[in-house]
Amino acid sequence: MAFEGLAERLQGTIQKIKGKGKVSEQDVKEMMREVRRALIEADVNLKVVKEFVARVSERAVGSDVMKSLTPGQQVIKIVQEELQALMGGEQSPIKFNTKPPTVIMMVGLQGAGKTTTTGKLANVLRKKYNRKPLLVAADVYRPAAIQQLETIGKQLSLPVFSLGNEVSPVEIARQAIEHAKEEHLDVVIIDTAGRLHIDEELMQELKDIRGIKEPDEVFLVVDSMTGQDAVNVAQNFDEAVGITGVVLTKLDGDTRGGAALSIRAVTEKPIKFVGMGEKMDALEPFHPERMASRILG
Ligand code: GDP
Repeated sequence: MAFEGLAERLQGTIQKIKGKGKVSEQDVKEMMREVRRALIEADVNLKVVKEFVARVSERAVGSDVMKSLTPGQQVIKIVQEELQALMGGEQSPIKFNTKPPTVIMMVGLQGAGKTTTTGKLANVLRKKYNRKPLLVAADVYRPAAIQQLETIGKQLSLPVFSLGNEVSPVEIARQAIEHAKEEHLDVVIIDTAGRLHIDEELMQELKDIRGIKEPDEVFLVVDSMTGQDAVNVAQNFDEAVGITGVVLTKLDGDTRGGAALSIRAVTEKPIKFVGMGEKMDALEPFHPERMASRILG
């Protein structure tokens, strides 16, 4: 379960302060020392941890809290609010184009879950938003990727646009958008090529695809289990191609949660969805408030 370790640590720490009728500055200090340690153990970015601890501490030793009837509860409420703020505050919705088709580009490194997420997202768009998505196989370097997307399309009974692996991704994207217009499909989701590492050529290709028609969303798919590496990848992709949001996959297997807690603060880009399993219905919108509640129990 996601955040297991962090939740356990923080809940333990919080128990100590919860019922206190009086909370001293020293109590807050001690608690924050434990919170700090718990966050670092959860693999949260160090700078993010420092800022978080400073913000909570400053608010928690304020006179309103100290003089309130339930200071322990107040401190916990502050931790909860700041955790939520750290993850972006509110849930960030998908930006649809008022003039269809909406174009969503999926980018990310190989193995992050890009192709799977492309299918899951299309499924969400159809089921929850009543849209007609078109899946576009633009990863021409990994032959299996095209077939993987076609299999997913069959499984979901959704159309997949592909021109094999001899045509350039830019041309595939261009024709796919035209095809969507003709067929009245209102969302085009482009599964772009992934690499093992970020390289110039890949970034240029993504920029070229961007150049056809400004996408409404560029979603970076990153593997939650890679922790701070995921945060670095997000930062690099954002600088190189520009992203509008993040899909954090494999949160179901991430007991630490460092990426979920750091990505927003480091990149200023919202986490829009989280992958919670391999199945096609295992994609959920990311709710900072619910996540924060889950961590604090
Ligand atoms: P790509 O190279 O980025 O296109 O990655 P794939 O879509 O092929 O996914 C790589 C592996 O990760 C596959 O085995 C997926 O089933 C798995 N995967 C993707 N998303 C999730 C997720 O949210 N949870 C779990 N447990 N596995 C996932």
